[in-house]
Amino acid sequence: MSKLYPWQNELWQRWIGLRARLPHALLLKGPQGVGKLDFAMAVAQSLLCREPQEGGLACDSCPSCHWFQQQTHPDFRLIQPEILSAQEEANESGKKPARQISVDQIRALTDFSTLSAHQGGYRVVLIHPAETMNASAANALLKTLEEPAGQMLFILVTHKPQQLPPTILSRCLALAAPLPSPDTSVAWLKQQGLDDPSILLAQAGFAPLQAVRLAEEVEDVGEYQRFLQEVGRPAQFDVFALAEQLQRTDPAKVIHWLQQWCYDLGSAKLTGKVLYHPNLADAIQSLAAKIEIFGLLRYQKDLLVARREATHPLNPRLQFESLLLAYRQMAMGNG
Ligand SMILES: [Zn+2]
Repeated sequence: MSKLYPWQNELWQRWIGLRARLPHALLLKGPQGVGKLDFAMAVAQSLLCREPQEGGLACDSCPSCHWFQQQTHPDFRLIQPEILSAQEEANESGKKPARQISVDQIRALTDFSTLSAHQGGYRVVLIHPAETMNASAANALLKTLEEPAGQMLFILVTHKPQQLPPTILSRCLALAAPLPSPDTSVAWLKQQGLDDPSILLAQAGFAPLQAVRLAEEVEDVGEYQRFLQEVGRPAQFDVFALAEQLQRTDPAKVIHWLQQWCYDLGSAKLTGKVLYHPNLADAIQSLAAKIEIFGLLRYQKDLLVARREATHPLNPRLQFESLLLAYRQMAMGNG
């Protein structure tokens, strides 16, 4: 966890320089996709670590580092919009997860900032992405920044500092995370297994982590097409081949695809309309005609359970096999 990207060594040195006269709030700004959040986490962990390494990085082995990595450190808070954290639960309750950081999330820090640290050292609050604070959240934060308490550091991470109120900016010490040189990025991307990263890197605006995201999307598009092709013709569906192909895809994502597909099957059957796959409406309609609605409902219930448990399946391929076999059976009218 407390490893820096190869292009962040200089940035780390600048941070170490600041540490001696530590401000109450640090603004870590810079383009998207250069690893700002990871860097901010490394800063937070190093401040909480009991035995930092020589260069100032966290040791990764003391109890404090252990709690940090388990996301249970009592002196650390990560504040981010609901959509980035509690997505799963929010979806199940039927409520859309918030895209903004709310005033309640900031107010909940009041207790945290007035208590003294559990471990007797620093307390750290990381706000990410800081520009997603709504106006009242920003105001509440300003109040907290105006009355700083003890050894406490706020780290605001943003790629849109111009969207933050000047009153907040003026209370932060800014640290700019630069775009790495193309050579550094290309070398790193090759280490990540990308064969010819130059074009992708350019498409990503020379931000290496953005390039990784683009590469994953390209891969996903291919797998999603294959998935649609197979589930669309259950009679010829080779479950084991697809499960093998998907085994490196995030199980939650595959289950989500299945949920959207089944949603459209049900919707086509009951209302004649589809939502997620308008280009496949005819195929879905004719497939839906052969399906038993109760079999479909049962299967959708199984998907909900699977999605809840999808975070750490021991063997994703086996899980895909069983879900896809059940799908085939259901879609053939034997559900
Ligand atoms: Zn440590």
